[in-house]
Amino acid sequence: MNNKISEIYDIDPRLLELGRRAEAASADARAKMDEIAEYCGAKVLKAFADNKVSEPCFYGSTGYGYGDVGREVIDKVFAQALGTEDALVRFNFVSGTHALSVALFGVLRTGDRMVSITGKPYDTLEEVIGLSGKKGNGSLIDYGVEYGQVDLNDDGSPRLDEITEAVRGAKVAYIQRSRGYSLRGAFTVADIEKMVNAARKGNPDVIVMVDNCYGEFIEEREPSQVGADIMIGSLIKNAGGGIARTGGYIAGRSDLVELCSYRLTCVGMGKEVGCTLGMNREILLGLFLAPDVVANAKRTSAFAAELFTMLGFECSPRADAPRGDIITAVCLKDEEHLTAFCRGIQKGAPVDSFVTPEAWDMPGYADKVIMAAGAFTNGASIELSADAPIRPPYAVWMQGGITYTSGKIGVMLAAQEMLDAGLIAL
Ligand SMILES: *Cc1c(COP(=O)(O)O)cnc(C)c1O
Repeated sequence: MNNKISEIYDIDPRLLELGRRAEAASADARAKMDEIAEYCGAKVLKAFADNKVSEPCFYGSTGYGYGDVGREVIDKVFAQALGTEDALVRFNFVSGTHALSVALFGVLRTGDRMVSITGKPYDTLEEVIGLSGKKGNGSLIDYGVEYGQVDLNDDGSPRLDEITEAVRGAKVAYIQRSRGYSLRGAFTVADIEKMVNAARKGNPDVIVMVDNCYGEFIEEREPSQVGADIMIGSLIKNAGGGIARTGGYIAGRSDLVELCSYRLTCVGMGKEVGCTLGMNREILLGLFLAPDVVANAKRTSAFAAELFTMLGFECSPRADAPRGDIITAVCLKDEEHLTAFCRGIQKGAPVDSFVTPEAWDMPGYADKVIMAAGAFTNGASIELSADAPIRPPYAVWMQGGITYTSGKIGVMLAAQEMLDAGLIAL
């Protein structure tokens, strides 16, 4: 933390000093992140070379998109980088939820059973699965797919014995790697390996599907490398490297990826169609940058965890704890701290830094929600962002930071905002 930043930003010298200490204290954690970024960066680079990425891959296609070399190469590069047989990477996935929905509908049939083995899935999937009980809307349950769930223990750990029993006769065992809006930790690849083994023990044929949102390039291995059959993610999170403006991916066993491609386009055509317009270059550039960008988000998260722990707030995960995603949750104790935090994060954004985030009644949420984000891509949470429902324990989930410099400044401004409001003492 350079002291001279106070010439540019109005940050209290005592806070800068604390920032320096937080940075020094998270140095070991960052060294591990550097190593992982190097390994993942090498994997990605080799995937580009082995699949002969070249200038014509950037041109893109129109209409049906027949013979789009870039599209075909992108699928191969992603598959290799993520350690899978095949991948379906498309800007046409409107979000992570859409890609997850395509994967679920691609694989499951009427009468099949899916079992979520990591408790209740991410909020937006409730409608996709049909947990709200609505009839006639085409959810999985509406189509006659059965749903089961194995809850997590109170400490957020999976119930391995229960998983073994629950997946007998099931088609899909579903794992959500990231924490979503819960205070449990994200699962590491080693955790996922244990769950895969527990599931296979009960049902060797079960298809293990992983919601890999926020998980790509967090560790050297991906869930596919410990036995997961299919993984899904968003390109406006980790895998798009802050460059892809939209899109998602499904990567895994080639027979399953093919079924998903039938669902995304149509049966018989699958991956062979779909023009890419001008999107190939940014998808490739985004993937190329992703390991380092993810590392920047992790560095920012570890710095925030260290700084806010020093300021007396509970953070999860702690800076030096194993990390399964890019998120840090900070328990801020009350609404005033929470809104001040979000105002500060917003001030550190490169875009829309001048606006003041306010809590509002967002559709689909029971409590008011506040969101701070000033991103080049709307909703891109690989860029520095923070969001929180206004309810106890007044936790904020912050993530992203495509550069460590900007991420760190955003975090410092969040603390400064609290200081200015008289909410913390140094
Ligand atoms: C972000 C996310 C999704 C997908 O959300 P979208 O906003 O639709 O991209 C799904 N699961 C988890 C755990 C996520 O973090």
